[in-house]
Amino acid sequence: MRIARVEALHCDGGWRPWTFVRIETDNGLVGWGECSDNRSPHGIAGCVRDLADLLVGQDPRPVERLYWDMLRRVRQNSGGVSHKAMAGIELALWDIKAKALGVPVYELFGGPLRDRMRLYWSHCGTTRARMGTFLGTPPLKTYDDIAALGREVVARGFTALKTNMVIPGEPATVYFPGFASGINTTDGAPTVEILDAIDRLIGTFRAAVGPKVGLCLDLNYNFRTEGVLRIAKLLERYDMQWVEYDNWDPDALLQIKQSTSTRLASCESLVTLRQYRPFLERHAVDVAIIDVPWNGFSQAVQIGRLAEACEINVAPHNYYSHLADLHSLHLCAVLPNVRIMEIDIDDVPWKGPLVTKPPLIRDGHIWLSDAPGWGADIDERVLREHPWPRPGEGGAPLFYGMDPGHMTARPR
Ligand SMILES: [Mg+2]
Repeated sequence: MRIARVEALHCDGGWRPWTFVRIETDNGLVGWGECSDNRSPHGIAGCVRDLADLLVGQDPRPVERLYWDMLRRVRQNSGGVSHKAMAGIELALWDIKAKALGVPVYELFGGPLRDRMRLYWSHCGTTRARMGTFLGTPPLKTYDDIAALGREVVARGFTALKTNMVIPGEPATVYFPGFASGINTTDGAPTVEILDAIDRLIGTFRAAVGPKVGLCLDLNYNFRTEGVLRIAKLLERYDMQWVEYDNWDPDALLQIKQSTSTRLASCESLVTLRQYRPFLERHAVDVAIIDVPWNGFSQAVQIGRLAEACEINVAPHNYYSHLADLHSLHLCAVLPNVRIMEIDIDDVPWKGPLVTKPPLIRDGHIWLSDAPGWGADIDERVLREHPWPRPGEGGAPLFYGMDPGHMTARPR
């Protein structure tokens, strides 16, 4: 069996393009991997093209050897876009190897350790603030609407949710200074207004969902260490599942973790065991977040196992299509130290049809199947019906298609 073709394909995901690697063999097997990143889709697809000549003509089954062949090609550009392209390729190679053997990918890594994984509803309120008109979801005009959303999450069987700095209004906005252009939007000092808005948002959710539902707030990169610490202290009384904060300095995260009873999750932007090692060895976080489409499967498993040896839980970073939902679920199926798995519930109506067999999501869990490979393929007909960039549009990568008025550098 030889690799005949390697290509990257985009699909319109509503407010972000989904990026897939499709690898075809000379005996007709097709493997799929997802490596979506709404910041650099053109770059990732370009890197996949740059790596294709290394793969075509090779046996796809020695996946580790091909990973290291690719790494030697790109290691002067270590991490980032090049590793995301490699990850998409590696995930497609595992799909081919598992299909050739007639087993699910998790079988190749000694699984499964579980038959389902508990989920948290991610971007809860965020997606409705950004894209509610497009999706037809209820508007978030007031804090009563936030409370109704919290009750909806519980009524639909979920036991945890994650939100961002959503501010209800007409229109609702999401406070994202790091994404807004303008003066001082990277200073990262929280104002009294945003501290009040965070307190009111999380307080409203907590009152609506009760004491047992996990609440998470994702701050992304938007504050400096001191600002995040103030927010984490402010939220101590709500017994958060976690506050999530991206920071490249493990000592900064450790300072936060040691200064508050609010649990801290981080590391979603890291790729490779090498980048995670200083964070895990310092015990800088309570929960290490792992992105499978950016790391590939083998690296994700190794990171999860080092986290286990450091007594740290992991949680997949996963705001993508159902193919990536399956990549993350298979990771959960082979690790003994998973806290919970992320998933976007408010999403485009073609998310289900885009895969040949959508995963079963019921009772707040996602259920594992025993189908070969990842358990589903991309339906190329549906993919072609939703091209990205959209015809006649330029394909600007960051939160494509979203009304920029719904992102603000100032709370209002
Ligand atoms: Mg995050």
